[in-house]
Amino acid sequence: MVVCYLGIGSNLGNRRKNIKQALHHLDRAKGIKIEKSSRIYETEPVGGPPQGRFLNAAIKIKTSLTPGFLLRTLKKIEKALGRKKAVRFGPREIDLDILFYADKIINRKNLQVPHPKIFEREFVVRPLLEII
Ligand code: ADP
Ligand code: MG
Repeated sequence: MVVCYLGIGSNLGNRRKNIKQALHHLDRAKGIKIEKSSRIYETEPVGGPPQGRFLNAAIKIKTSLTPGFLLRTLKKIEKALGRKKAVRFGPREIDLDILFYADKIINRKNLQVPHPKIFEREFVVRPLLEII
């Protein structure tokens, strides 16, 4: 099992419920164990089209999944919570990102870890600081 940090965001629908449900799905997913979760923060959207404010949180998990499988699991959960493929940086019911995967550096086309935008985004760093 390796330690991993995930970012969660929502700015569509019942945002708090979406985050709670995402945590529920994560907790039930095979190979994922939630260790800690941050408080939920309300934040201004950064970039993209005009859109509503986000709720954001970060969580610490332990996982036996490879980075690729973890990403697939996160995408499945996003889909289960009603997220459609849409505008990049646009509004979404739920966004699940891999922030760190142990101390691995990954530079694939569909997966960069550590997440390249972590340190530009206060809404990622602030909840993260609570749980490291
Ligand atoms: P963003 O989270 O940047 O606003 P999306 O959630 O729409 O955008 O994700 C777009 C793509 O980013 C995903 O299909 C995924 O393959 C890719 N991606 C690259 N690195 C990561 C990462 N660390 N965590 C999650 N997705 C990532
Ligand atoms: Mg994402």
